Amino acid sequence: MTTTSRPPTPNGVEPFRGKQPADIVEDLVITGALELDEGDERLWVPQTEGVSFRPLLLSVTQGYFVNLLRVRRAGVLSRHRHAGPVHAFPLRGRWYYLEHDWVATTFGYAFEPPGETHTLVVPDDVDEMITLFHVTGTYVYVDPDGNAVGYEDVFTKLEAARRHYQQVGLGADYVERYVR
Ligand code: FE
Repeated sequence: MTTTSRPPTPNGVEPFRGKQPADIVEDLVITGALELDEGDERLWVPQTEGVSFRPLLLSVTQGYFVNLLRVRRAGVLSRHRHAGPVHAFPLRGRWYYLEHDWVATTFGYAFEPPGETHTLVVPDDVDEMITLFHVTGTYVYVDPDGNAVGYEDVFTKLEAARRHYQQVGLGADYVERYVR
């Protein structure tokens, strides 16, 4: 990973002199993470037809993940029930839930409460939708009556990314940089 070198510490300013906790995990910096048209296309992990994600942080210790979801097809994407909270930051395109009357638009913010079931739709006139999602816990794919038909969590995302990065030549270990 490349990072821009930072300016020198200003005169008269003291950095923290103490020790960081012995068990602290490594910080994580992704330069240009939101430069949506830049970067290695291989980082986008195919999920279903026209749908892929790019991991930013896969928290196996706290059971959440932060990723960019990219959708290049219109229509119903999935119906799912969240066990934990979701924070959504739409960056391109628009989407909505059949169960709500609001539309998620570029540079907005939406909170999805734990326990909610909803059906994600991308409008017909949207060629590409990209949203940064911070997803905690599991979401369960359900039928219209709420019967479970599948699920996603940080571990399914991690496995999919590991498999994909191996296939495209980045190596299975590439995904480890996103894991905390
Ligand atoms: Fe959702």
